[in-house]
Amino acid sequence: MEWTLSTDVVVIGAGAAGLAAAVSARDHGAEVILVEENFDIGGHAMLSGGRVQLGGGNALQAKFNIEDSPDRIFSDWTDHRRGDARYNDRDLVRAFADECVPTFQFLLDNGVTFIEKPIVTPDASTVPRVFVTHEWHVPGEVIAPRRNRNGSGLVRRLVESARKKGVQVLLNHEMTQIVRDGSKGGRVRGIVAEASDRDIAIEARKGIVIATGGHTGNVNFRRMFDPRLTEEYQQAGLPYSFQGADGELAAMDIGASLWATGAQTSEVGPAITKTRHVGCRWGYLSLYFETDSPVFHLCKATGLTVTDWQEAILVDQTGRRFWNEIDASYDFINAAMGNRGDTTKLNGGGPIWAIFDADAVARQNWKPEPPHVDPDGYFASADTIFELAGRIRNPYQKQPIAGSVLQETVNRYNSFVTSGVDSDFNKPVPLHPIAKPPFHAAWSTPILHDSLTGLRTDTHAQVIDIRGEVIPGLYCAGESQGGFAQHGLGRCLVFGRIAGRHAAQRNS
Ligand SMILES: Cc1cc2nc3c(=O)[nH]c(=O)nc-3n(C[C@H](O)[C@H](O)[C@H](O)COP(=O)(O)OP(=O)(O)OC[C@H]3O[C@@H](n4cnc5c(N)ncnc54)[C@H](O)[C@@H]3O)c2cc1C
Repeated sequence: MEWTLSTDVVVIGAGAAGLAAAVSARDHGAEVILVEENFDIGGHAMLSGGRVQLGGGNALQAKFNIEDSPDRIFSDWTDHRRGDARYNDRDLVRAFADECVPTFQFLLDNGVTFIEKPIVTPDASTVPRVFVTHEWHVPGEVIAPRRNRNGSGLVRRLVESARKKGVQVLLNHEMTQIVRDGSKGGRVRGIVAEASDRDIAIEARKGIVIATGGHTGNVNFRRMFDPRLTEEYQQAGLPYSFQGADGELAAMDIGASLWATGAQTSEVGPAITKTRHVGCRWGYLSLYFETDSPVFHLCKATGLTVTDWQEAILVDQTGRRFWNEIDASYDFINAAMGNRGDTTKLNGGGPIWAIFDADAVARQNWKPEPPHVDPDGYFASADTIFELAGRIRNPYQKQPIAGSVLQETVNRYNSFVTSGVDSDFNKPVPLHPIAKPPFHAAWSTPILHDSLTGLRTDTHAQVIDIRGEVIPGLYCAGESQGGFAQHGLGRCLVFGRIAGRHAAQRNS
């Protein structure tokens, strides 16, 4: 291989894990190149709420007299009664628990600042462990501005520090291959990356850190864990940050193994969620792209925010209701992904549509027109329900909805409003009939969020192959790493920092 560039450590992906890895490798004396496929840094972390879960007795916990310890973290995240902890690799949780406090300090040392108020979240376990980063101060550099995208402060501060320390950041460079000497026992040598005008090969004299952020956007890959996850389910984070499983695939091409795969389908946690913003393609719960977002031209619509599911019914690809709309538990998701007799599509439940009328629009003060909705396949209106059914056209809607079926669904629901009892799905006291034209249909298909499984690593974040041996020089952290099904930034930052440090300390 002829190398275009040469360095000690190559980090792939400039999100939470990759930035931590790059800074940490540099702090330990390595030359570092960080490659990022996007036009800007940050990945999902840029869009995140910046709620960082790093407990164990860190400086801010101490300030609020919150008693915590690494042992307590370990016990919380290995508790067999918790569905999100049950399948965790105890060795990885132990390493995480022991490295939380130093990782929190590492963030402070690199300029990250936190709002001084502990947040209690159910997934943060038995004591408050979450503190929120300040949002980045330049609104034009926050990808979803004015919507508490506090993770922007985390990633912008880290990249600022990385650059100051001498990390070379290559944007618009997509890793397409990891180069290894032979297969069994051989060490990794470098990567190939594609830029718009050239392919480059970068030699990594010490190590390569995969921090590409997970797999939820790769339909083929995600169906390994759950065959129902067919193409209609969109990925949170788009259209800014794509989780394409690139790191997992490149590592598996050279022998890497996955780990704790049961965690992806454990039916708890945020792997797949209900939408909140309907009538646009990507309506993930907390993520709302305003019209001044730099990626708004790709989003095309903000969506209509549903604060009360009394305002609409939800129907499947055949035009029938399938569950109590108010429920947000996994039972709802399960029902949405069920097959109710569509013989043309046996896996995956197909698109889900919110159906509502002019009175709901008035009550909610919605504006059912662009840029709030996307009429190009994700929103339709008509003066009759029958006509509305015919206007629902979308690439994922394999068959048109029959007007008579949708009309029957609405008639039946309206009868439940009159009687006060939903005898099909037990929605608590259905309140509003769907009666006043115009009628609307808005895309409301569940949306994927976290990758909770990925590559097998040891506690130093070294990738393990399918025979259980370390692949020398290859590391993985973040949502591409398997074995620890914790939502979000905490584990990504911890293992990113561990990976960068270990890679830097390797002999060339
Ligand atoms: C809307 C939203 C809100 C969230 N809020 C929170 C929160 O408040 N608290 C919390 O703890 N977690 C939150 N999360 C989750 C958290 O942001 C992620 O778990 C975390 O960012 C994952 O870190 P990562 O480094 O693995 O991936 P990312 O941060 O996504 O970074 C991966 C990077 O790799 C790049 N990449 C991918 N493939 C390639 C390739 N082939 N070549 C080069 N680069 C590549 C991507 O473009 C991306 O920039 C949120 C996520 C979302 C989407």
